[in-house]
Amino acid sequence: MSLPAGAQKLAVLNCSQLVTLAGPPRARTGAEMRDLAIIHDGAMLIEDGCIRQVGPRAGIEPLLPNDCQVIDAGGRVVLPGFVDAHTHPVFAGNRAGEFERRIEGATYADLAAAGGGILSTVRETRAASEETLLGTVQRYVRWFLESGTTTIEAKSGYGLTLEDECKLLRVIARLQPLRCVPTFLGAHEIPGEFRGRPQEYANLVIQEMLPRVAREKLAEYCDVFCEPGIFSLEECRRILTTARSLGLGLRLHADQFSDSGGATLAAQLGAATADHLEHTSERGILALRAASVQPVLLPGSVYALGSTRYPDARAMIQAGLAVVLATDFNPGSSPTPSMPMILSLACTHMKITPAEAITAATVNAAYSLRRGQEIGSLEPGKRADFVIHDCRDYREIPYFFGVQSTYAVYIDGCPVSRSC
Ligand SMILES: [Zn+2]
Repeated sequence: MSLPAGAQKLAVLNCSQLVTLAGPPRARTGAEMRDLAIIHDGAMLIEDGCIRQVGPRAGIEPLLPNDCQVIDAGGRVVLPGFVDAHTHPVFAGNRAGEFERRIEGATYADLAAAGGGILSTVRETRAASEETLLGTVQRYVRWFLESGTTTIEAKSGYGLTLEDECKLLRVIARLQPLRCVPTFLGAHEIPGEFRGRPQEYANLVIQEMLPRVAREKLAEYCDVFCEPGIFSLEECRRILTTARSLGLGLRLHADQFSDSGGATLAAQLGAATADHLEHTSERGILALRAASVQPVLLPGSVYALGSTRYPDARAMIQAGLAVVLATDFNPGSSPTPSMPMILSLACTHMKITPAEAITAATVNAAYSLRRGQEIGSLEPGKRADFVIHDCRDYREIPYFFGVQSTYAVYIDGCPVSRSC
């Protein structure tokens, strides 16, 4: 194979394991989740930000054109960039003070009575300008990149007025160089001015927010927080049905604190994903399977809330669901942008193997965002989003927890974070 003159050519050589995740062009299920299609002493040819060829070094090296820039991975592991399919990255302030009060024994009700919780973040976020928020989020973008994440799904949800939700989505559209898939989450919480009137707030979401978000193409997906006492099944159904009619894909926060029928609703509406699922019953799992809804599991929020009730990932894999893992990065229940930390939690507490965890955090996550044809694996024709991890064996990534394993991070073949 020869590359045309003038193209930006790049070769990655000397990978102890080139973890390609090559396979069928769809999300992986069951035993497929353990097959990472690893090439030992692997190499990769890239042209104009796109992967051209992948294979053993001995097969790739003789093909290198003279003007090709070579990246020596130094015998390290190379993976596709992580795809974090559930984050809430645009918010002002943080809740470190609340974190301390919870440790000292304050309950959720105590914090809410003192003006804390999600509505305190909403207050601060409403008060911040688009430019201020953009500046704040840059810090988190850097953290995602440094953790080896090259794509995030990013939700609004701390504005909860028409203008503030649009402001958050415009910030998401401006994030660089991380790839972002925007999701409208106007139904994240009932804002203070609508206290006790959830139906009226749902009407605002349906009649004013969704049409504007769709008209201005500010989001690809619509999400709702489906939980008794927040948004009921019926309100969620009304909001999501409207979103679907406007051309948005659907995602749901479902069954986080109770088995309240969120998974079943996701299945009935043909949602792309049902997220959380800590309390989903076997019936809910079967409904997700029948409708091909992907579960997005968020062990970081279980850990950070001090709970031990992790979702039943083994039952979901056994049932044939294309499981996804994500951080749920947010200032309240999961303040981590680190996919390696999430992999570690999933392996230790959910009995997911390291290979299954990597599949869930790359190719399966990409398909859950309709990006599977472009990213999520290292195969010819896909974007050159890859990460050199400072280890010899991919299993070290969840094993050495709390360690920054990334050595260099590339999006479209361009270095975006390098720690050497
Ligand atoms: Zn969430």
